[in-house]
Amino acid sequence: MDVEVENFLQSIYTMPGYGQAKPEATFRISGEAEPFEEVLSTYMTQIIPSGIQPASAAHLGYIPGGGIFASALADYLACITNEYAGVYYASPGAVTIEEEVLHWMKKLFGFPGDSVGNLTSGGSIANLIALTAARDQQQIKGAAINTSVIYMSTHTHHCMHKALRIIGLEDVVIRELKLDTRHRVDIKELSAQIETDLSQGLKPTVLIGAAGTTDTGAIDPLSEMADLCERHKMWFHVDGAYGGFFMLLDEVKPKLKGIERADSLVIDPHKGLFLPYGVGTVLVKSKEAVLHSHHYTANYMQDTLNPDVPMSPAELSPELTKHFRGLRVWLPLRVHGIEPFKACLEEKLLLTQYFREQLAERGFELGPEPELSVSYFWYPKETPETTDKFNRKLMQQIHADGDVFLSSTLIDDQFVIRMAILAFRTKKHTIDRALSMIDRCMDKIG
Ligand SMILES: *Cc1c(COP(=O)(O)O)cnc(C)c1O
Repeated sequence: MDVEVENFLQSIYTMPGYGQAKPEATFRISGEAEPFEEVLSTYMTQIIPSGIQPASAAHLGYIPGGGIFASALADYLACITNEYAGVYYASPGAVTIEEEVLHWMKKLFGFPGDSVGNLTSGGSIANLIALTAARDQQQIKGAAINTSVIYMSTHTHHCMHKALRIIGLEDVVIRELKLDTRHRVDIKELSAQIETDLSQGLKPTVLIGAAGTTDTGAIDPLSEMADLCERHKMWFHVDGAYGGFFMLLDEVKPKLKGIERADSLVIDPHKGLFLPYGVGTVLVKSKEAVLHSHHYTANYMQDTLNPDVPMSPAELSPELTKHFRGLRVWLPLRVHGIEPFKACLEEKLLLTQYFREQLAERGFELGPEPELSVSYFWYPKETPETTDKFNRKLMQQIHADGDVFLSSTLIDDQFVIRMAILAFRTKKHTIDRALSMIDRCMDKIG
C-alpha cells in the first residue's frame, strides 16, 4: 500500500481538483474473500479520481480540508492499538491526550481552564452539543419554546437549523438577521430586533455569531454581540468552524476579539488545522449545561464512574465508544510545532489577496475586502440577468474543466463564484493554475 500512497502524494500538487466522472465499479460486497491488492486497486482507480480532491492543492471550493500526513499516522496508530477514548477508566492516556488538546484550544481562545470541551466528528455535531447546552441552561422547554427567541444571521451555517430541529426546538422563534455591506451582523438591527421582541413579551435566549461565515468568511462584531448577551442574559454561541484557527495569527486576533466571551465555541481542526476529515471541537464554559443532557449512569458502567478522575468524553457528548481522534490533533502539533500551521494560515490570507488582484485585472468584480480567506467574484455583463446567466455558465465551464475546484453561492440573490483558500497544499502556483483555468473557460464561453 505504501507504493500507492507514495504515488498519490507525488501527484498531489498537480492533480485536478475535481473530476465529474462517476465511479464505474459497484463496490459490491460478494461475501467472498478477495486479494487485498485488488481491493486496493479499486480504491485507487475508482474512488480517488471522481469528485473533489480534498487532499490536493486544487480544492478551493466550499471550505477546503487538507489531510496532513502526521494525522494519518496518528489514525493508523489509534486504529492498530484501538485505544478506548470514550471513558477515562478504559484509557487514561487517551483521555488525557484529548484533554490536553482541549486545554491547548481553551488557552488559544481565552476560555477558562474549568470550561469543558469535546472532540467531535466535525463542526455540525460540535454545534449540536453547544446548542443543546444553550437550550438546557436557558431552560428552553415546554411552553417556553414558543416564546424563546434565537438570533442568527442569514449566513449562519445550515447545521444550526438542523441542530435546532434535532433537539426539539423547531418551534422556537428564529430571527435571521440582515447583514451589513461586509456581510456581518448589523448590531443596530440586532438591538432593535431584541427590543421589539421584548416589547412583544418574547424572551431573547440565544445569539449565534460567526467567526468566519462559510459564504464570505465574514467575522461578526463579536464584542458588541457579547455585550448584548450580557445585557439580556442570552447565551452567546460562536461558530468558528471555518475561521477559528486564524486566531493563531497575531494580525487576525484583534478581529476575533470577543470570541473569549462566548458561552460556547465551535472550531474545526479538520478545516483550519488542515487535518483529515473527522474532527471538530466544541468548548463550553458551563460544565453543568453540557452534563445536563450528556451525563449518564448505567449499572454495567459502575466501575468507570469515579468522581476522583477526570471527566470522560462520553459525559460531554452523545457518543460513548468513539475513535481516539485526539491523537490526530495532538501528534501533528507535537511533531511539527505550531509554526508551520501559522505559516500556512498566513499564506492563505496572502493568496486570497493575490487571487483577487489578478481577477480584478481581468475585469472581474469582487466582493468586499475579505477578513479571512473566503471571497467571491463575478464577471459583469450589461444587465443583472445577463450577468447572472454568464456567471452560471462560467461556473459550469469551470466544473467541466476541473483543474481547480471552485464553488458558487448566492449573495443577496446574486449568483457569485466563491474562492475558499484553506488547503495547506494550495500555493501561489495553484492560484496561477486557477487563473489560467478561468482564462480558458472565459475563452470557451466567449
Ligand atoms: C463547515 C462548517 C460547519 C459544519 O462543520 P462540519 O465539520 O462540516 O460538520 C459549521 N459552521 C461553519 C461556519 C462551517 O464552515
